[in-house]
Amino acid sequence: MAGVYNYWLVFISLLVAILASYTALDLASRISASKGPAARAWLVGGAFSMGTGIWSMHFIGMLAFRLPIPMAYDVPTTIFSMLIAVVVSGFALFTVSRDTLSTRNLIAGGVLMGLGICAMHYTGMAAMQTHPPITYDAVLFAASVAIAVTASHAALWIAFTLRSASDWVRYAKLGSAIIMGFAITGMHYTGMAAARFAPDSICLSGPVVDNSWMAGTLAGTTFIILCITLALSVLDTRMASKTANMADSLQRANDELQRLALHDPLTQLPNRLLLEDRIDQAIAHAERGKFKCAVLFVDLDRFKMVNDSLGHFAGDELLRSVANRLQTVVRGEDTVSRLGGDEFVILLRDVTGPDNATEVADKILHALREPFRIHEQELYITPSIGISVSPLHGDTSQMLITRADAAMYNAKQAGRNNCRIYSSSMSTFFPQRLMLENDLRRALGRRELELYYQPKVDVGNNRVVGMEALIRWRHPHRGLLLPDEFIPLADDTGLIVPIGRWVITEACAQNKAWQSAGLHELRVAVNISSAQFRQKDLLDTVAHALAASSLAPECLELEIGESVVMANPSEAIVTLEKLSQIGVQIAIDDFGTGYSSVNYLKRFPIDNLKIDRSFIRDVSSDMDDAAIVRATIGLAHNLRLRVVAEGVETEDQLQFLRSLGCDEYQGYYKSKPVPAAEFERILRAESAEHKVTPLRIVATS
Ligand code: C2E
Ligand code: MG
Ligand code: MG
Repeated sequence: MAGVYNYWLVFISLLVAILASYTALDLASRISASKGPAARAWLVGGAFSMGTGIWSMHFIGMLAFRLPIPMAYDVPTTIFSMLIAVVVSGFALFTVSRDTLSTRNLIAGGVLMGLGICAMHYTGMAAMQTHPPITYDAVLFAASVAIAVTASHAALWIAFTLRSASDWVRYAKLGSAIIMGFAITGMHYTGMAAARFAPDSICLSGPVVDNSWMAGTLAGTTFIILCITLALSVLDTRMASKTANMADSLQRANDELQRLALHDPLTQLPNRLLLEDRIDQAIAHAERGKFKCAVLFVDLDRFKMVNDSLGHFAGDELLRSVANRLQTVVRGEDTVSRLGGDEFVILLRDVTGPDNATEVADKILHALREPFRIHEQELYITPSIGISVSPLHGDTSQMLITRADAAMYNAKQAGRNNCRIYSSSMSTFFPQRLMLENDLRRALGRRELELYYQPKVDVGNNRVVGMEALIRWRHPHRGLLLPDEFIPLADDTGLIVPIGRWVITEACAQNKAWQSAGLHELRVAVNISSAQFRQKDLLDTVAHALAASSLAPECLELEIGESVVMANPSEAIVTLEKLSQIGVQIAIDDFGTGYSSVNYLKRFPIDNLKIDRSFIRDVSSDMDDAAIVRATIGLAHNLRLRVVAEGVETEDQLQFLRSLGCDEYQGYYKSKPVPAAEFERILRAESAEHKVTPLRIVATS
């Protein structure tokens, strides 16, 4: 007896098979991506929907087949075949959702699954209960088993491989599902083809079912089950990926917070917290081995000046460039950190001792010697470096940093742009420096600052022609402090601005007072520091001081260091020009210590050149110094400038300078810097010598 196929139902069975396959593949991803109870729920639910899917494909396939006799199916046997499908599906899902799939497991799993599908199929056929029983064509039967086993292998392998959730995997899954769908239906229809129905067969099981109705219901139900499963799976994937995204961004936020907590936002270098941790680690590491670790405290000299004159953006840019350069000097295992401001601390691991650390410090000095290009300007910056070495100078990060800082401060005091290794005599510097800064803040209000005056003398007739106002700080506990002990600090902290304003005002007032008292009309010189020179309101300050004291502008002289004007000559010219328009005199101080370009000197509206005292010291004995002083005087005279020699202490020096044609001198030979009252006595004594009668004491302080 031969049957006929309803091809619509065959087609629907194929669709169901494809849908079931796709669901299976999707579920494999879900199960492997979930954990614990969720994974188990997906496995059980998945086994059910995939099992019903495969089974209904098979059953619809059977319904598609019509024999000329009325057909019916034994319900318990049919349900049993469905259970087999569910179990086989569960087994398949379990196999592919494990972390690994060995070849052995793949082969065994494929065989078991294939046989399981065959068992489902032939049990389902048995539910027809025909009489005489169905016989099978051996070859086709074997072929159907072979197809089932092969398709199962392929299905397992594909499902295992396509578990991830990327876009291309979604298309790959669809393609694979179509192939698997064909394989499953292929197995089914081969199995059906193997069946032989005797010509006079009758169906024993009842009741008789309407094929199309049952097939439709089954297909619909299965379709809904599979769709729900798929929808759930897709939703779950979305949720999972959202959760994963959230966890991801949380992790990133955490990482970022951690980075922020441990790094300096400007340079991205480690901050103090991370540095201290690394130093402590390095100390522990050094204790175990034969090496030591060193801490280098690097502070930029006069950084504040850059900030004040060029603005914070340029300052920040400079700090970033310095950070980069420092990193190129050290090795990968060393740490360059920034504590804030212009303070960098470098941790060197595995150094052999202080000498080794000094070598690195020298490299840093060398590396920073090249100019920095910031906002189209060339900037020169020098560092002062302090070194401490563990365990020699301490065995905690704090001790090493504090002591390196003390050594750095010492290096700064010793003239900047150099390095010092910590020694116990420095240990008190650090707290003193902080205290000093606080004290200096209050010094002005407490009237602790004073001006001393040192005469400037005409080399020709030995008469006082002017004086230089030199600041002193009468510190309540530390006694009289010289400018070198606090002017650099004032410069770095910005305190120089109010202090400088006070100096100019006081010097003008004092000079005017002396003039009003009938003393010889003299010129008073005040020193202008680099930070002051770059201050926008310097002009106002000078104008105010002159107005307030009614001092004639030509009786005020401003001394500006050679290195200060030459740091940025084109801007200096503008400032100098404005000052000169007010009518004050301008002197270049400490000439010879910087690198002047004659070209600029020619263009500067200046009046006097002060030769630095370091050239004067040995001028009468050292040929080189003598040559320099001679050349300088020659140059100055060519430029129509008056020349003042600083630091003249002996008659020999004076004689020599006189022979070179130097105009004025200043130095201990005539007088040390002295308080105003004492200076007044010098003036009066001189006036008396030149028959001008002094009347009354007029020192203002
Ligand atoms: P400077 O402008 O070069 O001042 C001359 C320095 O040389 C003074 O040191 C003075 O005491 C010293 N000196 C004078 N004659 C001799 C001598 O014959 N032999 C030796 N060995 N030294 C001599 P002082 O007063 O300690 O000032 C140091 C520096 O501090 C000054 O150098 C100046 O640059 C700065 N300074 C002083 N007062 C002020 C101020 O009011 N404002 C600013 N911004 N800087 C100041
Ligand atoms: Mg001076
Ligand atoms: Mg000088």
